[in-house]
Amino acid sequence: MAKKQFQAESKRLLEMMINSIYTQREIFLRELISNASDAIDKMYYKALMDDQLVFNKDDYYIKVTADKENRTLTISDTGIGMTKEELENNLGIIAKSGSLAFKKENELKDGHNIIGQFGVGFYSAFMVADIVTVISKAHGSEEAYKWESEGADGYTIESCGKDSAGTEIILKIKPNTEDDQYDEYLEEYRLKAIIKKYSDFIRYPIKMDVKGQRPKEGADENDNELEEYVEEQTINSMVPIWRRNKSELTADDYEKFYNEKRYGFDKPLKHIHISADGAVVYNAILFIPENTPFDYYTKEYEKGLELYSNGVLIMNKCADLLPDYFSFVKGMVDSEDLSLNISREMLQHDRQLSLIAKNIKNKIKSQLQSMLKDERDNYEKFYKAFGRQLKYGVYSDYGMNKDLLQDLLMFHSSKEKKLVTLDEYVSRMPEDQKYIYYASGESIERIEKLPQAELVTDKGYELLYFTDDIDEFAIKMLMNYKEKEFKSVSSGDLGIEPDEKDKESDAEQSENKDIFEHMQTVLAGKVKQVRASKRLKTHPVCLTAEGELTIEMEKILKAMPN
Ligand code: ADP
Ligand code: MG
Repeated sequence: MAKKQFQAESKRLLEMMINSIYTQREIFLRELISNASDAIDKMYYKALMDDQLVFNKDDYYIKVTADKENRTLTISDTGIGMTKEELENNLGIIAKSGSLAFKKENELKDGHNIIGQFGVGFYSAFMVADIVTVISKAHGSEEAYKWESEGADGYTIESCGKDSAGTEIILKIKPNTEDDQYDEYLEEYRLKAIIKKYSDFIRYPIKMDVKGQRPKEGADENDNELEEYVEEQTINSMVPIWRRNKSELTADDYEKFYNEKRYGFDKPLKHIHISADGAVVYNAILFIPENTPFDYYTKEYEKGLELYSNGVLIMNKCADLLPDYFSFVKGMVDSEDLSLNISREMLQHDRQLSLIAKNIKNKIKSQLQSMLKDERDNYEKFYKAFGRQLKYGVYSDYGMNKDLLQDLLMFHSSKEKKLVTLDEYVSRMPEDQKYIYYASGESIERIEKLPQAELVTDKGYELLYFTDDIDEFAIKMLMNYKEKEFKSVSSGDLGIEPDEKDKESDAEQSENKDIFEHMQTVLAGKVKQVRASKRLKTHPVCLTAEGELTIEMEKILKAMPN
């Protein structure tokens, strides 16, 4: 059967797309500036590959110009420009990204600074403009072309004049309507604010002609006559935040960076700004998020930090920079010690990289420790979001990281009715207490009702509540903490001093020998032994385990897929 092509009403499709992708109109400027920056980046990469070509930084910039009278906003760049074909392909086909193609052609796998990839950003211009005109001259070409469109009705292309390579995007800003105001996109202060908000770390200058007033030259000092003047200003700070001095940055700056970088949709709970210049020189800004990402405990979650070499993004998610137990950390690392290398394989064996990773691991650990010490509430918040990952960390790799992680662990306790650390537990153990006691169960309420727990709490000993599957496995890996062994309340011997009750139960055992033997035959294959208990107070019966695995662990192991 012949296949039929889907038909689409392109005008409606374009409208739907534009209106469903973006919630804020102002981002059209971010999109167009990103495209301009990409166009300049392409020149930069071309120059890297071509000895004949010199990249002179001063020649490359983006300019934003508003013309209120004609209601036009122009975004121009001195980047690589577009040929006629490129105009048709990249702007004439929705979801076609010339930038993505560029990355592929040049094999810039992860190694690029180029922002574009989806091939839709450009059309966001139609959120604020009736007519979009693009005048472009490709690098190395003699001809320039003008592309013009009023939206999905189509576009026209004709040749035109343009002096130098680059692109000019001219937006005819929509007239105000009763519901929608568009004038703001012609206002200098508003444009400046949008640029700052979204494009502050664009590495090339974004310039604007800014109006000012000053005392008229030659005028009398007492005479307050002013004159208007226009001055070209660079609006973005360009120098990335991580290259700036910690002392001049506020918590707000870091938060803004976190949001801009889309490390998460929450706020960072804590930031770590590292400027290392020891054995390895690097800058890093790391964040501990406030909330657990929705896919965090799934296979889909990808750990990693952004890796920059000399301010150029090499990798989006460099996994080698983070151990699994700190996989929740977000952020970036910038190092001059890494040679600009766009092949991932080379980086993985980079000695500098593993030095940085080690360094970072220690910084995160000490940050968490000082949070635990000085900001208990924050730490508990963190622990509720990511504590499970730390416990996995203790358990995995054959307990290799237990020394690093054990002090960061917390468990609910019978004494405090809240999270306590192992150190807190051990430091208040009475002298006669031999073990660190714990009980596993589905919930705190359930554990509190466990008959096995009674003897321990009756004795006045503190009990740790293990409600997470991983808890007991992690603790088995630790074995002990500060030389105190862990002991499950469901294990055979609790190591509690025998008292009168013991003799009683020994007597009970022999007196009721027949009943116990009978019970044992009835329960054959289900239990190993039935005997009088030395530990029950108010409950008639309880189960205990013998050997390494506790009942809870057996349950979990049985539930695991083979
Ligand atoms: P994306 O940036 O995700 O690729 P866009 O819709 O923003 O998608 O842009 C589509 C393509 O148009 C880009 O990939 C690029 O090839 C081309 N383009 C857009 N703006 C410019 C520009 N200022 N200079 C050169 N090429 C551009
Ligand atoms: Mg784009």
